[in-house]
Amino acid sequence: SPLQVIEGPLMDGMNAIGDLFAVGKMFLPQVVKSARVMKRSVACLLPYIAAEKAKNKDTRAAAKVLLATVKGDVHDIGKNIVAVVLACNNYDVVDIGVMMPCEKILEAVEREKADLLGLSGLITPSLDEMVHVASEMERLGMKIPLLIGGATTSRMHTAVKIAPVYSGAVVQVLDASRSVPVVNSLLNPALSPSYIEALNKEQAGLRESHSSNNASKKYLSLADARKNRALLQPVAYKPLKPGITLLENVTVGELRPYIDWTPFFMAWELHGRYPQILDDGKYGTEAKKLLNDANRLLDRIEQEQLLGLRGVAGLFPANSNGDDIDVYADESRSAVLMTLHTLRQQQEKGAGEPSLALADFIASTASGVQDSIGGYAVTAGLGIETLLKQFSDEQDDYHRIMTQALADRLAEAFAEMLHERVRRELWGYEGYQITEKSEQTCACHPDLKHQSLPVNELLEEKYQGIRPAPGYPACPDHTEKAALFALLNVEATTGITLTESFAMKPAASVSGLYFAHPQAKYFVLGKIGKDQVEDYAVRKQISLKEAEKWLAPVLNYEPQ
Ligand code: SAH
Repeated sequence: SPLQVIEGPLMDGMNAIGDLFAVGKMFLPQVVKSARVMKRSVACLLPYIAAEKAKNKDTRAAAKVLLATVKGDVHDIGKNIVAVVLACNNYDVVDIGVMMPCEKILEAVEREKADLLGLSGLITPSLDEMVHVASEMERLGMKIPLLIGGATTSRMHTAVKIAPVYSGAVVQVLDASRSVPVVNSLLNPALSPSYIEALNKEQAGLRESHSSNNASKKYLSLADARKNRALLQPVAYKPLKPGITLLENVTVGELRPYIDWTPFFMAWELHGRYPQILDDGKYGTEAKKLLNDANRLLDRIEQEQLLGLRGVAGLFPANSNGDDIDVYADESRSAVLMTLHTLRQQQEKGAGEPSLALADFIASTASGVQDSIGGYAVTAGLGIETLLKQFSDEQDDYHRIMTQALADRLAEAFAEMLHERVRRELWGYEGYQITEKSEQTCACHPDLKHQSLPVNELLEEKYQGIRPAPGYPACPDHTEKAALFALLNVEATTGITLTESFAMKPAASVSGLYFAHPQAKYFVLGKIGKDQVEDYAVRKQISLKEAEKWLAPVLNYEPQ
């Protein structure tokens, strides 16, 4: 009978794959492809199963796992991978999607009688939202284990902030391959007591090291950190094409040479650098197949124009004003169009090391130098839903996940390509900088030649200038995207929108600022003190509470 086929040979096959995956003898792409066979087989058998179930009454109830991405967040790939991997390990997975408010998630838990809840999120505001969901679970007297996943989640945050507000088990799982043994341990009555005991011990240990770690760090006052700011010789390049430039006709073909494949393999949990990974003893064979499949799908996306690409870049007169950056309406510099707010490092530095803020890379108003700043936003995800739905309808999670991973790659490639155009053509400062290695004649500086970087050095960003992105370590405040989006009119020009947590939609989008100064570099802000948060709240005209909410991951103190 079909039910026996599913519970027998089909499941045995999936179990074998699950076991090989668990011990590292099979890799994620193979698991997802096997799951596709499984899913399609089940789909064929479904009508018979329904009939049989009606006759027999269901016998074996698989444990049920509910997955959701929290409110304000659009993270999806990792969650989809976990869903596929758990589903092919006998779990009944219900994925209710992205941007899910707490009430919706907890309603679904009750409605589905879920045995476990998995919360996913990519951006830092989601960490807070996860704490909120956990505390609501506690208030409602729930007991089921809670799984935490996504790039900014950590074992430390889980132990320090989430686990203490919920009496059920709370486990952070970073890799899909880890999700299976963890869920097995949590839901198997024979394993769970000892697993949870060990977990609680580990989390207590993490909380302890967290507080002792924090106590040992030394911080400068904001005033002292400002005295230690970076004093750079101003270098003000005049943009060749000031104002806003739209990019509406960029093609997938144009972007392909700029794709950084290493993070693509990471998304598939094949850890290694491209191109070496293709010859890796362990991963090589699968990596080659995966890249082949990716390129085939890219060919299709390119030929049939299945993903919409749009971007905008803008270059504006600007000067720094303390830790803020004033962007002027025009070259007369009489009216401030927008103020960008940056944060300054406060952790004590070694001798001669400045306490950086991004504002240090822009000439100050007092210097009298006429400097500029840039901004950009690009997306490669317009219309992605159509393609995703098509693959869903074909029971093809492999290509659905592949589509999402490729759209992310194309967005990053777009940002890299656009940055190059900005350096060479729109801002044009790269033409000022000519070396022996010069190769290409410059359209914008006909008497000069551009230095061409090999693609690996391009992707390592070994050029002059940076494009820091709000939400990343130098500028962890996601709300600064609001100013950037207003400045570039991003919603109207590109179709990218911001969620209430300042995640970009479509997910395959990238945005940030451009700094051209030769000494501009990426840095990690680190933790900051209450004096700076108070100052920042005043500068941004928001309450201290609100500032503390958005800066939660970088506070060196516990807000009241
Ligand atoms: N080639 C990579 C590029 C993305 S990661 C890819 O395809 O995935 C690098 C980008 O992250 C930078 O261009 C910048 O936008 C952002 N970034 C990295 N470190 C940062 C930091 N410390 N502060 C702010 N932004 C940072």
